Amino acid sequence: MDKDKSARKITVLPGDGIGPEVTREAVRVIKKTESIFGLSFEIREAAMGGNAIDAVGNPLPDETLQACRAGDAVLLGAIGGPKWDTTDPNKPRPEQGLLGLRKELELFANIRPVKIFEPLIDASALKREVIEGVDLVVVRELTGGLYFGASAREGDRAYDTLDYQAFEVERLMKVAFDLAGKRRRRVHSIDKANVLEASRLWREVAIATGEGYPDIELIHQLVDNTAMQLIRDPRQFDVIATGNMFGDILSDESSMISGSLGMLASASLGEADPALYEPIHGSAPDIAGQDKANPIATILSVAMMYRYSFDLARAGEAVEAAVDGVLASGYRTGDIMSEGCKLVGTQEMGDLICGALA
Ligand code: NAD
Repeated sequence: MDKDKSARKITVLPGDGIGPEVTREAVRVIKKTESIFGLSFEIREAAMGGNAIDAVGNPLPDETLQACRAGDAVLLGAIGGPKWDTTDPNKPRPEQGLLGLRKELELFANIRPVKIFEPLIDASALKREVIEGVDLVVVRELTGGLYFGASAREGDRAYDTLDYQAFEVERLMKVAFDLAGKRRRRVHSIDKANVLEASRLWREVAIATGEGYPDIELIHQLVDNTAMQLIRDPRQFDVIATGNMFGDILSDESSMISGSLGMLASASLGEADPALYEPIHGSAPDIAGQDKANPIATILSVAMMYRYSFDLARAGEAVEAAVDGVLASGYRTGDIMSEGCKLVGTQEMGDLICGALA
């Protein structure tokens, strides 16, 4: 057996709610691609989130962190749920597990592709003629900016600080330019440089980094304009690069262009392995344990893992093509159901995608 192939280790964190249901189907897809493409993965499960609080009182147990660090990639389902909701600052919360993992693994770039699935085009709140052919990626800075700057409450006053250093902007912009180089060669750098000093630094560093990528078009856009342009004409975008808070808002706005939470995958990358792959949806406690969850976002997260962590573009494309094929055949989970289509559960959707892969 090829040594490199045998060394690929995936840590699966099923999480809470529908997390274990959707990761189960994603793991079946991984196993199917192993046999089709002659790949070999070592898959190890670990606890994170609410289930880890129940088991050991800590949303990110040390042994989970160690398992993630020892692996080449992490696949997460989703975490959280009403059982662990608390306003008591002394009690552990499931989200601390995910935020802790991102910080510990130094995952500074969050990548969210937004693609229109032709069979689902009418699920969007936007008109067909506006969204047909949309294929964009939001690259959001994840470990700096407003969410990590100095912050305090002093009596009637509170503040949060938007703080960026040049190296944080540069490494994020490099991820965006590299990605654009494999796509349509256009980067929109989003800031608020007409008002914010941190944005003026962002813009300067974006321009300087762009000099290393002469064949990629760099466009600067103010964030308020971008919020409008995403609805008016989303096809103008290829790669959108932006800071933590602007990216948080714009990536959620972008995800609604496609109209379905259950379809969208994401990757969080650092300078080194492991990267983290997860669906953008949460743990959907309202449908957990009922075989109703759509596993496609998690399965497409596997396709991203193949591409970004393992350089297995062909296997990634095969997974995406299998998903397209199943949707084109009219099979739908409840969240994307429309008239005339065939309703299937989580497991059957997994079966169909594995079948389409074969
Ligand atoms: P949610 O994404 O879990 O659910 C929103 C709605 O979308 C629900 O009606 C749900 O049934 C539906 N939905 C979501 N994913 C689906 C899927 N794959 N298939 C079918 N329907 C799906 O968001 P929420 O209700 O705001 O949050 C629920 C819990 O998830 C909370 O505890 C929240 O903190 C947590 N959460 C976790 C993550 C994460 O793990 N990364 C992200 C967001 C929210």
